[in-house]
Amino acid sequence: MIIDVHRHLIVKGTVQGHYIRGAQKSFVMMYNKTHGTHVSPRDFTEKVVRPWIDPTADNIIEEMDAAGVDKTVIFAVDYGLLFGEAAINAFDQNKLYADVAKRHEDRLIPFMAIDPRRPGALKHCEQAYHEWGMKGFKLHAGVGYMPDDPCCYWVYEKASEWNIPIMVHTGGAPSSTPALRWECSRPAYFATAAARYPEADFIFAHCGDIAWWQEAIQAAVWLPNVYVDLSLWQKPYKKWPKPRFYQWLRDIVDLAGADKIMFATDALYPNLMCPLAEWVQAFKNRDTDIEFSDEEIDLILGGTAQKVLGLENE
Ligand SMILES: [Zn+2]
Repeated sequence: MIIDVHRHLIVKGTVQGHYIRGAQKSFVMMYNKTHGTHVSPRDFTEKVVRPWIDPTADNIIEEMDAAGVDKTVIFAVDYGLLFGEAAINAFDQNKLYADVAKRHEDRLIPFMAIDPRRPGALKHCEQAYHEWGMKGFKLHAGVGYMPDDPCCYWVYEKASEWNIPIMVHTGGAPSSTPALRWECSRPAYFATAAARYPEADFIFAHCGDIAWWQEAIQAAVWLPNVYVDLSLWQKPYKKWPKPRFYQWLRDIVDLAGADKIMFATDALYPNLMCPLAEWVQAFKNRDTDIEFSDEEIDLILGGTAQKVLGLENE
């Protein structure tokens, strides 16, 4: 089974103007550097991103079918306390994700994106979990709290009690005004939280990104409840000589084990640099002499996620 554990919907009204005006400068820079193009930020938004607007996720299902992806975990990001509320507020965005996942029940798995400091957040998440069937949490501490701050403890307690994972952003963040706080997304801080709550499974999104991957892998080596996802690594895959990418993959498998590593995209933006089907093939049909066992690849592509998501019998 192939599972993408990290994807966002592209829906009007879910992203704040304050965020997107800064973020598009970062995303268009990455896009242009990958493709050797000179697309302007405005054209990037209008011509490259806009065609992907897909509020029902019907196009995502088509894309998954073509790439051979069985299931995808979807979630919003709760930026509201930093940038102001989007047209669709954070709680309503979670409901939207739950509804879209219900529309494609056996294919999409919804997580609740929450800033733990929000008034009413616990009550909202109880409803999202019990009534809407949401299957995990998503935290982006870059909005301004430390991962091991007591404000987060209720999330870790509920994740332990409900036996659902917590997807946490680790790594860089785009330009924005006000700025996202990079230091809050360091894997080391989430490792401290994970050590404090051994019953909760933590998925370190982006495997720490290009500066902190060793820190993320170090956490996965030390802590039984820490996992990493490989979203955002499409760009190194595209830009590095292939042996370097596969040696890196071999190294993290040797250090942490394939049972700690999960295939992921963070679509949409990384998919604009490396389409979903190509990213799947990077693992299935590897252009390298560096060896991986079938078991390792099966774990990375879906086996590890099946276990963490409680889908072993599917
Ligand atoms: Zn993401």
